[in-house]
Amino acid sequence: MSSQCLFCKIVAGEIPSKKIYEDELVLAFHDINPQRPVHFLVIPKHHLTSLQHASTADEPALGRMLAVANKLAVEAGSPGGFRVIINNGEIGCQEVPHLHAHVVGGEQPVGPMLKRQA
Ligand code: 5GP
Ligand code: ZN
Repeated sequence: MSSQCLFCKIVAGEIPSKKIYEDELVLAFHDINPQRPVHFLVIPKHHLTSLQHASTADEPALGRMLAVANKLAVEAGSPGGFRVIINNGEIGCQEVPHLHAHVVGGEQPVGPMLKRQA
């Protein structure tokens, strides 16, 4: 646990979240500012800043994050597919420095992956 980390505080229950799923490795909860009808985050329960900081020791949690995404997406209301987005570092426009996979979906296609910049 990193004492100043927002998502570590959510893992610890010090900050409330709308929890969807939890096991020994990962936690899933609804994004506070959903961008699609289904939008939740899956995070490792141990502090890991981003994929840039990951090592082989993190691989069980990384695998679990993706393994639970489909099950949770179906249950959350996105049975026809979904998108997983992981923003990393400054170039990836990551805002919260605790690794998280966004899972977005719903009943309509989520649209183009990136908008081309002018
Ligand atoms: P990033 O830009 O780092 O990939 O995404 C951070 C995400 O975390 C954003 O979608 C934002 O809405 C979400 N978020 C930020 N603070 C909180 C919070 O306190 N609770 C929850 N549930 N989501 C948060
Ligand atoms: Zn953390």
